[in-house]
This record gives sequence, C-alpha cells and structure tokens, in this order.
Amino acid sequence: MDYDLVIKGGQVASSTGVTRADLAIKGETIAALGSDLTGKQTIDAKGKIVMPGAIDVHNHFQLPFCGTVSSDDFEIGSKAAAMGGVTTFLDFAIQSKPKSVMEAIVDRQAEAAANVCIDYSLHAGITEWNKDRVEEFPKIIEAGIPTFKMFMIYRAQGWQATDADVYRALREAAKYGAMVGLHAESNDLIDLLQEEIKGQKFPGCYAHAVSRPTVTETEAIARAINLAEATGGCLYIFHMSTGRAVDLIRDGRARGVNVHAETGPHYLLLDDELFKREDGHHFGTCPPIRKPADQQGLWKGLAEGVVEVMATDTCTFNSEQKSMWKGDFTKIPFGMPGIETLLPLTYSEGVHAGRFPLERMIEILCENPAKLFGMWPQKGSLKVGTDADVVVFDPDAKVTISHKTLTHRCDYSPFEGTKVNGWPVTTLVRGKPVVKDRKFVGDVGYGKFIKRQPPAKPVA
Ligand SMILES: [Zn+2]
Repeated sequence: MDYDLVIKGGQVASSTGVTRADLAIKGETIAALGSDLTGKQTIDAKGKIVMPGAIDVHNHFQLPFCGTVSSDDFEIGSKAAAMGGVTTFLDFAIQSKPKSVMEAIVDRQAEAAANVCIDYSLHAGITEWNKDRVEEFPKIIEAGIPTFKMFMIYRAQGWQATDADVYRALREAAKYGAMVGLHAESNDLIDLLQEEIKGQKFPGCYAHAVSRPTVTETEAIARAINLAEATGGCLYIFHMSTGRAVDLIRDGRARGVNVHAETGPHYLLLDDELFKREDGHHFGTCPPIRKPADQQGLWKGLAEGVVEVMATDTCTFNSEQKSMWKGDFTKIPFGMPGIETLLPLTYSEGVHAGRFPLERMIEILCENPAKLFGMWPQKGSLKVGTDADVVVFDPDAKVTISHKTLTHRCDYSPFEGTKVNGWPVTTLVRGKPVVKDRKFVGDVGYGKFIKRQPPAKPVA
C-alpha cells in the first residue's frame, strides 16, 4: 500500500522505548509503523529521532498586560512553536469581569482562529467565582475546555481567587473530572515583603527576588494541596519554581491527592543572580527564577516523574516593553519568549546531559501534557489512527541560541548564547509539513481548535 508520506529509518521514540522504524502517514493521521513502508513522498530520518510533536500547555500570546500587549501574537507565536517542534499549544481565555468566562473564550477563539499555524486549545481563566460560574462550569467543559486557571495572587488587579473560591472550584471540578490549575503564590506574603524592602537599594532588579522568597510559593502550594485533598478535586500547579515545592507535590501524591505540577526551562537553567545585571529585568517572571538548589530539586522531580510537565509560560515582551519598569521592580512586565526553545533545551540539558533518558522527555513534553489536559492519544502519541503530529529531531545538530535566528518577535532570548545539542528539523501537524529542514513552510490559519476531554475521573 502506498501511503501519502513515509518518514523512513528514524529512531521512533515513545515513553516505553525507542525503536528503528518507518512511520507512514495517510491524510492527517498516522497509518502504520513498520519496515520497508513506501509512500508518495518520503522524508529520510536516518540518524534522527522521530517523536510526537511537543505540546506546550502554557502560553500567553498577544496578552494585554501592564499597559502593553505581549509581542508574540498568535501567528508569530505559533510559527515559533512549529520551528521549535511544538505541534499543539494551550493559551488562556481569562475572564474579564463582569463578563462571563464563556464570553472570554469566544473572544479569544476569535483572536486565534484565523492566525494559528499549529493546533491549539485554551484554558478557562476564572477571575470571579460566584453562582454564574457554577452554572457555566459544565457548559465550558462541554465546549471542550476542561481545564481552569485561577490566580492566588493579583489581588490588586481584581483577579485573585480566595481560598474559598479555589475550594469551591475544585469541588465543582471534581464532579465533572475537570482540572483546576493555579498560579500559586502568596499574595499576603508578597505584599508584606514588597512593603518591607521599599526604599532599599538592590543591584538591577534583584529586589524582585528578595520580595518573593521560596516561602511565597511553598506556602501557597501547600494550601492548594490541602484544598485539593479536602475536595477530591484534580489540581495542577502552573510554573512551579522551587525545589521545596517538589517535596510538597511528592508528599501530596503519596497520600493520594490528585495533584500535578509543571515547571519550565527558565526555572531549570537560569538563576536569580541574573537579576543583578543591567538587563536583569528581561528575566522578570512570576514566580521568579531561583537558586541553583531549586534547579537541582526541579531536575530531580522531573527525573523521578514527580514534576510531570515542562511548559514555557511564554509571554514575550521585547526590551522596549520590558524597559517600562523604569527601575521599579513591581512594574516589570512579567514574561519571556520560550516556546521555540522548549524542546531543544529539554533535549540538550535533560537527555544529552544525562539527567533523564529520551523516554522521560517524551513523557514530559508529549504524553503527560496530552493525558493531563485531555487530548490523549489524539495528541502526544505516535499511535496508529491518531493525529500525525510528528517531529524529526536531529540529535547531532549543534546550535547556539540567539534571538537573531529565532522566530520570536523579541530582541533578546533569555537563553542567548546557550549552546545546545540537538534541534528539530521537520515538524508535521496533522500530516502536513509546517517546518521542513528548519524552514517554515506552513500556512497561517491552518491550526485547529482541539476540543478536549475531562482529564480526571469524576468523583461521586
Ligand atoms: Zn502564565
């Protein structure tokens, strides 16, 4: 039988092993894995890794924030994603009070639909919990969005969820098998510490780190885990940054709490000494990048499977936008580019550096995100009959990261000058090449909204 496309002779990788095989595609789906397969077109993958496209579950394209809009819009952001071997991304539709969450979803889909080059979905961001939320909760899930986001901080912006709000959302989620994801930092502690260091001098924007020590994250995560335990709800911790928090997740999971956690390359590879530099504010995110000991704790958590997902929290602000902080660390537009370097950095620093095997990387970039966010096995797998989202990855490519060669609309990369081993060369989304030999060949608007299933079992 002649297939449409055969990727020949690569090392086909999944969480359970790596085997040499041909991978055949018909239309938009994976049709066969085997040997000596033939097709109308072929891609030679000898010496390359053939893997499911990476899924980045945490991005904010064209996000209005701090009086500006993040500079990677849906088109550039999704192109950057494809160039980096990401085939599906998740962004956020955040409720703008007094409008409903559903209205935010409709608006956000309208912004994304005609502009995305790869597949995508959205999380539903809740900024006000009341009886209207209880009513629209099942409707949002029905619309294919079974994962919610709430903020334990941003009280001043009117986004904060109280403990009672989080409790009620988790309880509601438990009924439907939905998941509540949290930005877990302590608003009270951060307010206090920011007040206490007012007027003190620090190099660069180092005050940002001083005002957000480890406890500002661990206190909030411990509280959230308790709420998940009490309600039986499924909890996800976005952008976890500390080694100590890994212990909290491990302990919670050991006593049966349905809790999951994500970290990102910046927390693993950058540390807070960078804030002391003149351009330190370029590295400003919240939670902030931390200490080398935190990096080690997070790497260990990934290797052990306690931290299940790598995601980038891409929210790109160029140096002009970042300069709006004007020396006040409380006014830094938080966020950095990252979706394009997710896979190369994870491979280079994770697999090539010997921190975990290739199989684990497939888990944390492909399989776990698909499972935890209700897209498995359609996304994140190379199983026959599923979407042909495939990356051909060259493990021998040597690349020095530079904003000049990246697609992101940004005049710096947080990983500028980092030498990586391995880079994706070809990216297919539903059978169609969107990147070929490291050149973008896709179409704007090709990406589809992916309706997702509730990831957890409903609690009776
Ligand atoms: Zn975020």
